[in-house]
Amino acid sequence: MKKLQAPRGTLDVLPPDARRRLELVGIAGDVLGRAGYEPMDTPVFEDTELFARGVGESTDIVQKEMFTFEDKAGRSLTLRPEQTAGICRAYIEHGMHKLPQPVKVWSAGPFFRHEAPQAGRFRQFTQIDAEALGSDDPSLDAELILLLAQIFQRIGTGPTRLRLSSLGTPATRADYLEELTHFLRAREDQLSDDVRARLDQNPLRAFDADHAGTRAVMKEAPLLIDRISADDADHFGQVRALLDTAGMDYELDPTLVRGLDYYTRTVFEFESERLGAQAALGGGGRYDGLIEELGGQPTPGVGWAAGVERMLLAAGDEPPAPRARVFIAIVKPDAARDAFVLARRLREAGLRVESEQAGRSMKGQLKQADRIGAFATVILGDGIEVKDMETGDQREAASLDDVVDMVREATPA
Ligand code: AMP
Repeated sequence: MKKLQAPRGTLDVLPPDARRRLELVGIAGDVLGRAGYEPMDTPVFEDTELFARGVGESTDIVQKEMFTFEDKAGRSLTLRPEQTAGICRAYIEHGMHKLPQPVKVWSAGPFFRHEAPQAGRFRQFTQIDAEALGSDDPSLDAELILLLAQIFQRIGTGPTRLRLSSLGTPATRADYLEELTHFLRAREDQLSDDVRARLDQNPLRAFDADHAGTRAVMKEAPLLIDRISADDADHFGQVRALLDTAGMDYELDPTLVRGLDYYTRTVFEFESERLGAQAALGGGGRYDGLIEELGGQPTPGVGWAAGVERMLLAAGDEPPAPRARVFIAIVKPDAARDAFVLARRLREAGLRVESEQAGRSMKGQLKQADRIGAFATVILGDGIEVKDMETGDQREAASLDDVVDMVREATPA
């Protein structure tokens, strides 16, 4: 029989890791909630057209990476490769422009991209996402960047590098790409074969080249950041001033373009020194034209997405300490019912309780109590005893009610 395995590029999240993930999402919700971001969710699959229009036909995501399928009525659906397009669709569909603006939301869930799997890159991965829709106030750009940095700090991802730029408008960008292509064409003989071959598809790659000749050419190359309009430059100046005020370090990187078409003005990306080739922890930017592109009123927006698997990789695998636990050992088989009743009572009293459910010997049960990190073990034999696992002291209880009080007294702070 064929051995069944999880599909290529997917992950099973086993118990200690799953707990860590929930904790991470909880931290993000706490940090974002304090700034007025409310949880929101959209479907895991959408009309393919949403991403074709929203993410952009020319992007790698749409051209190569989408999991697209037909439903039984022949509609083309796609597993969401990112969150922003879905949020914007929902904003339009539910008339959320009538709410007080900006509408601030966050979400966490699975995303799907058909990429070549490697360390930190999966075909199903988890993102935390935050968006502020309906205002182009630069304080939202800065706020979102700072909130993401705070989440990294609370999770313990270690040092991160923030790269920041402004893309202006799609029109500025198109003019600039033409100018850059022209500039590179005129110096083609000095460029690497690789850069030359992709000159028309992606001239910006030339900025990342290691080739000495290409690097020399790029020193003189025009930069997009110098071509943006006065309004866009002013907006970017305000975002930077707020980041400076907050003491947030960043590097201006005029070559930062990100892989999605919808960005306007601010773009940013955080990288971790602790990750390998897939170093991006999270990133985002402003997308002032996207809602209109999807059929809504002209509505500005800004947001980011951060990868949960990568944040956990960067933070290390230290699972959080388990909460206080009690183990109930069953020495006499007819004590099983008492154990069941007692477990419920102790849980109602707010404790985390496990009882023997695998028929172990007494020795095996005490070992299990140690293994789960119990601070107290209740032993149901001829009588009822409560063993303090720290000191080894063992005391007799008069009744099951008594046990609840005794265990409560022994609960570590
Ligand atoms: P992006 O929308 O591509 O900027 O993705 C935002 C974040 O999601 C990235 O910074 C990564 O942390 C994470 N991410 C994107 N693609 C993948 C993937 N294939 N596997 C794991 N994480 C990913």
